[in-house]
Amino acid sequence: MTKKPKLTLKLDASKCIGCEICIGECPFDALRMEGGVAVIDYEKCKLCRKCIKVCPAGAFYLEGEEAAAEAETPAEVDKQADLQARLSQYRGVWVFVEQTEGRAHPVSWELLGRGRALADTLGCPLSALVLGYNIEHLAAEAGYYGADTVYVVDDPVLSVYRTQPYADGCVKLIRKYKPEIMLVGATTLGRDLAGAIATDLRTGLTADCTGLDIDELTRELRQTRPAFGGNIMATILTREHRPQMATVRPRVMEALPRDESRTAEVIHEALGIGEDAVKVKVVQFRPDADLDKPNLTYADVIVTGGRGLGGASGFELIKELADALGGVVGASRAAVDAGWISHDHQVGQTGTTVRPRLYVACGVSGAIQHRVGMQTSDTIVAINIDPDAPIFQIADYGIVGDLYQVIPEFIRLARERNLKELLLGQGQASRAAS
Ligand SMILES: Cc1cc2nc3c(=O)[nH]c(=O)nc-3n(C[C@H](O)[C@H](O)[C@H](O)COP(=O)(O)OP(=O)(O)OC[C@H]3O[C@@H](n4cnc5c(N)ncnc54)[C@H](O)[C@@H]3O)c2cc1C
Repeated sequence: MTKKPKLTLKLDASKCIGCEICIGECPFDALRMEGGVAVIDYEKCKLCRKCIKVCPAGAFYLEGEEAAAEAETPAEVDKQADLQARLSQYRGVWVFVEQTEGRAHPVSWELLGRGRALADTLGCPLSALVLGYNIEHLAAEAGYYGADTVYVVDDPVLSVYRTQPYADGCVKLIRKYKPEIMLVGATTLGRDLAGAIATDLRTGLTADCTGLDIDELTRELRQTRPAFGGNIMATILTREHRPQMATVRPRVMEALPRDESRTAEVIHEALGIGEDAVKVKVVQFRPDADLDKPNLTYADVIVTGGRGLGGASGFELIKELADALGGVVGASRAAVDAGWISHDHQVGQTGTTVRPRLYVACGVSGAIQHRVGMQTSDTIVAINIDPDAPIFQIADYGIVGDLYQVIPEFIRLARERNLKELLLGQGQASRAAS
C-alpha cells in the first residue's frame, strides 16, 4: 500500500489581507495576527481546513494535498465512489410531527420552519411525518406550516406513544423513501424516538442543535450545538450515513406563519404491525400532577432572577413583578444551584430554552450558558449593578442599578400603566429603527 504524503497547512502571506476572519473562525485557536498577517501555530493546528474555507483571499492551502490525492489506492477511490453512490440515493428533508391525542407539539411547526430553509437551499422537497391515531387533520396543518408532502400513518396501535411501534413506523418509511435529513423535536418523546430510529438505521444523531445549515459545497447538514460545557460551539457532520439526524429543543427555531392557502400532497402508509407485536402495554395514563410547574417554554413574559438576588427571598420580588406583567418566574443556574428555587425554573443550556415576547433578567450576569437559552427573546430587559455585565450586550433595555430599587419601581409602573406593552412597543420600534 502506498504511504500517503504528510499534509501541512500553509499560508501565502502575500495574499493575506489582514481581515482576521480566520482568527475568529479557527476552532483550535491555532491562528494569530502578527504585523497585520495571519500566523499558524502548528502545535495547535488540526488541519480542519476551516481557514481555507473562510479566507476571502484564498491565502491558505494544504501542502501535499495533490500528492495525497494521487496516492489514493484504487481501492480507496472505489470506496469513495461507493459511498457517494450510496449517499446520493437519499433526498429530501423530513420533520417528525410530534402529537399527543391529536394535538401537535409546536416544536413540530418550528422544525418545519427551519426545514423549509434547508430544503430550499438543497433544492429538494420538505416532508412531514405524522404518526398516531385519528390524526388526519394534522396533515393539512403540516402543509400550512410549510411541508410539501405529508406521510401519514394512522393506526390504533399508535394511539399512545410507545417507542417500538413509533420507531418501527418511522424506520420503515425512512428505508422506503430515503430522506437525507430527519429532524425531531428535543422533547421527552422526541429524544426517546430519535435515539431509537438512529440506532436502528445505524446513522448519526446530533442532540439539542442550536443551529442547522447546509454546506453548499458538499450538501452536508452542519449541525451546531454547544460542547465542552458550552464553552465552544461544535459543528457536527454525518459524513458516511444517512439520514443525517438532529434534534432541536422547542423555541430554538422559528415557525413560518400559518398559511391556510398552502396545501401539501398527503401520502398514506400502513404501519404493518399488530398490537400483538408490541411488547409494552399502557395500563393507565396519568398526566403530570405538578400543577405548579412553570410553563417557561411557551411563556409570553419571563422575569428571571439570578445570583444578584442574594438569597431565596429575592424570588418573592421576582414573582411579584412576574405577576404584575402576567408572566412566569425564571432563574439562572447559579440561583438554582444555591437552592433558592427549583430546576423547573432554570433558563439556559441545562435548563429550558425560551423565546418569550418579554424577558426581564434581574441580577443575571449573562453567561453564555444562560444566553443560549434566552437570547432569541423578542425584547430583553436587564437590571444589573455592573455596567460591564455581558447581559447588556444582548439587552434591548439595560438598567444599571440595584435590583432591589429598580424592581419595586417596575412593579408600580406595571400596575399603574401597561409597562409590558410599553416595553414591547418601544423595543420593536427601536429594533426596526436600528
Ligand atoms: C455545562 C454548564 C451548563 C450551564 N448551564 C446553565 C444554564 O442552563 N443556565 C444558566 O443560567 N447557567 C448555566 N451555567 C452556569 C453559567 O456559566 C453561570 O455560572 C450562571 O449563569 C451565572 O448565574 P448568574 O448570572 O445568576 O450569577 P453571576 O454570574 O454570579 O451573576 C450575578 C450578577 O448579579 C449582579 N448583581 C449582584 N447584585 C446585584 C443587585 N443588587 N442588583 C442588580 N444586579 C446585581 C452582578 O453584577 C452579576 O452580574 C452552566 C454552566 C456550565 C459549565
